[in-house]
Amino acid sequence: MTSQRHRLVIVGGSDAGIAAGLRAQQLDPSIEPLVVVADAYPNFSICGLPFYLSETPDWRDLAHRSRSDLEAAGLRFRLDHAASQIDADRHTLTVRDPDSDERVIGYDTLIVGTGAVPARPPIDGLDTPGVHVLHSMDHVFAVHDRITLPSTRTAIIVGVGYIGLE
Ligand SMILES: Cc1cc2nc3c(=O)[nH]c(=O)nc-3n(C[C@H](O)[C@H](O)[C@H](O)COP(=O)(O)OP(=O)(O)OC[C@H]3O[C@@H](n4cnc5c(N)ncnc54)[C@H](O)[C@@H]3O)c2cc1C
Repeated sequence: MTSQRHRLVIVGGSDAGIAAGLRAQQLDPSIEPLVVVADAYPNFSICGLPFYLSETPDWRDLAHRSRSDLEAAGLRFRLDHAASQIDADRHTLTVRDPDSDERVIGYDTLIVGTGAVPARPPIDGLDTPGVHVLHSMDHVFAVHDRITLPSTRTAIIVGVGYIGLE
């Protein structure tokens, strides 16, 4: 009888998800963790987002490791796939692909490392164009696009914790 390879699926491809995948692979090299990521930026430095707006000219420099480095370390990826449902009885994870089609992935072990979301205080107009939060690569691209418009003259930062200050 051939033994089946353990199917480790990880949701989230930032610090938590990637660290978990690399460690699992280190502990058992037969495991090839599958990392499901809602966006296209696995292992990018979220902490570096403020610096993309000030000092880092190339967004690729925010990557802690390249995708090919991660794949060489044994990780596999489904990028631009958002997890939408876990069926713990069947050991399946449903994900939406970039065309919004649903796909079902089987797992033996599932790790969820989907991080946190920015606090959205009760401020009217928070969801209007030109108002941004800063938590993902897509957010920072949106802010960058806005502040580099020739018509942009001023910016206001609401909140001066360490992220606002940076
Ligand atoms: C602007 C900013 C600056 C920061 N600076 C610092 C700092 O200087 N020092 C410090 O120690 N910490 C800093 N932090 C905090 C640090 O970035 C976080 O603690 C860290 O990113 C948390 O990692 P995580 O993997 O838990 O979650 P996150 O980094 O939030 O990653 C979540 C991951 O889950 C994915 N995901 C979410 N939902 C789904 C879904 N449904 N399906 C599939 N994938 C999904 C996302 O695409 C992403 O890959 C900063 C945070 C921000 C926002």
